[in-house]
Amino acid sequence: MAAYDIIDHAYDVVVVGAGGGGLRATLGMSVTGLKTACITKVFPTRSHTVAAQGGIGAALGNMSEDNWIWHMFDTVKGSDWLGDQDAIEYMCREAIPAVYELEHFGVPFSRTTDGRIYQRPFGGHMRNFGEAPVQRACAAADRTGHAILHTLYQQSLKHSARFFIEYFAIDLLLDDSGVCRGVLAWNLADGSLHRFRAHMTVLATGGYGRAYFSCTSAHTCTGDGNGMVLRAGLPVQDHEFVQFHPTGIYGSGCLITEGARGEGGYLTNAAGERFMERYAPTAKDLASRDVVSRAMTVEIRDGRGVGEQKDHIYLHLEHLGADVLHQRLPGITETVRIFSGVDATRTPCPVLPTVHYNMGGIPTNYHGEVIRPVSDDPDSVCHGLMAIGECACVSVHGANRLGTNSLLDIVVFGRAAALRTSKWLKKPGTGHEPLASSVTDRAVAHFDRVRYANGSIQTAVLRLQMQRTMQNDAAVFRTAQSLQAGCEKMADIAKSTADIGLKDRSMIWNSDLVEALELENLMACAVTTIKGAVARNESRGAHAREDYPERDDTNWMKHTLAWMDDKWRVTLGYRPVHLEPLTVESIMPKVRVY
Ligand SMILES: Cc1cc2nc3c(=O)[nH]c(=O)nc-3n(C[C@H](O)[C@H](O)[C@H](O)COP(=O)(O)OP(=O)(O)OC[C@H]3O[C@@H](n4cnc5c(N)ncnc54)[C@H](O)[C@@H]3O)c2cc1C
Repeated sequence: MAAYDIIDHAYDVVVVGAGGGGLRATLGMSVTGLKTACITKVFPTRSHTVAAQGGIGAALGNMSEDNWIWHMFDTVKGSDWLGDQDAIEYMCREAIPAVYELEHFGVPFSRTTDGRIYQRPFGGHMRNFGEAPVQRACAAADRTGHAILHTLYQQSLKHSARFFIEYFAIDLLLDDSGVCRGVLAWNLADGSLHRFRAHMTVLATGGYGRAYFSCTSAHTCTGDGNGMVLRAGLPVQDHEFVQFHPTGIYGSGCLITEGARGEGGYLTNAAGERFMERYAPTAKDLASRDVVSRAMTVEIRDGRGVGEQKDHIYLHLEHLGADVLHQRLPGITETVRIFSGVDATRTPCPVLPTVHYNMGGIPTNYHGEVIRPVSDDPDSVCHGLMAIGECACVSVHGANRLGTNSLLDIVVFGRAAALRTSKWLKKPGTGHEPLASSVTDRAVAHFDRVRYANGSIQTAVLRLQMQRTMQNDAAVFRTAQSLQAGCEKMADIAKSTADIGLKDRSMIWNSDLVEALELENLMACAVTTIKGAVARNESRGAHAREDYPERDDTNWMKHTLAWMDDKWRVTLGYRPVHLEPLTVESIMPKVRVY
């Protein structure tokens, strides 16, 4: 093992990630006087949250009557009864104060003519327990994430949190009793290694969309937190549930927000038919994402796709008129022009279902504490470790996330994590016990293994093999055959990471090394995703098995847990779904129609 001078830091809390989740936690922690560090591999306002377009869900009732119980119902139904109802109640109830808090922090929401926060319709958001669409998505034009992220960063700077920007977290420091004591990170700019000691480590590292070939996520969405947790011997949960967004731009995968359909956009096939009317007679184009993505895939498979290859679908916005597009969807109009060369005010946009969101992640309770189940307690926690945002699985999204519920998730649970930590950690500034050197050595050994890899495969080549396998074999529709073949291919591809060769072993601005570290994390996410999918013999939310087309509540209303060993072998286990909300009655399973 190479010898490094390691620079030590001592904090009450270290947050890994500066997207909306990480920043809301950092802000909350530092406001209560906890000495907080936030480390991030990219500049905070470049985090993927910046790309969120459509809105943040809250039953404010600004446009017409709404109620947080309806929001809760829609979320449970959207989750196809895999979401934990205690966490969902907490989120939908807290949504209303959370959005007003953002408004007071300075988020420049779009406005109604009488000055209230503007809300638009979104997929799966209905009034009165599924009766008709409701306008619940609070929007800042089509740049809601941008507005929220910049506001939260500015708010964080008002307090004493210390930012470590362009630091790459490598591994968690879990001691032999299984308590998390901090994290080891690499400073990309000068090559130094840093050991951050903390009483609470909060992972907020975002999703792993880049495990797939075509996705809407940033190149930084590589599941680093999920990888760290798996390497620490902890499980991830429900990774098989990967959301395909109906309207990625054909070819590039860039997102056209569901807000475009919320504003009146609609889909057509080669015959010019508004086919969603056949699949979801009530919600039509605003049915839940999994439903719309499957309908589009069926249309294309049955030969009704558009274009020369008949391999995509049209999204119509032109009838909305240039004024509405300019006011409500300015970013979309520009993105469509750049990425498909189409003028959305005149011509329909070519779209295709594209990987968008990971419902699964690091299991937590609704306080953000990471779950480490033991045989007699499926909800026991790993001390000193929290996870929030897209890397976490609370689970409020279950088998399928509703649009606008992720921006909500990151602010509500970022705040919850801070509230919990400040209650638990009564004496900020308490010192840290010495840490056995073996704990840091394990993390350094992993770093060295990647840094000194001297095989013959390029990182980018192996990454592409993984992305293509996941895209083909763990797709919108799945069968035992495709998943089994995918599992075998992924097992080989994962093993080949040992044969990667790096051109550059420098510690300073070595993007080759960053990509190799990220690939290890993506690979861990990919193998657990496909393994969970082949085992789940039912269709639920985003997991659509052609060989098991029905939801099977008797056998499968449970969360998948996946552990991984250092040979990339995956072991599965399960834990019960929380069907009991906190104060209201359970929403019992029903057939899910829109
Ligand atoms: C194009 C697009 C549009 C979307 N639109 C909406 C929408 O309208 N409404 C909605 O509710 N949701 C939307 N979503 C989903 C939502 O934006 C994301 O799920 C959410 O913003 C994720 O926030 P996060 O804080 O968990 O992670 P991110 O914003 O992805 O931030 C992750 C952070 O972790 C850091 N990090 C990661 N790995 C490391 C490491 N190893 N070391 C150090 N730092 C690390 C990164 O630097 C970054 O700061 C959209 C998503 C996409 C991709």
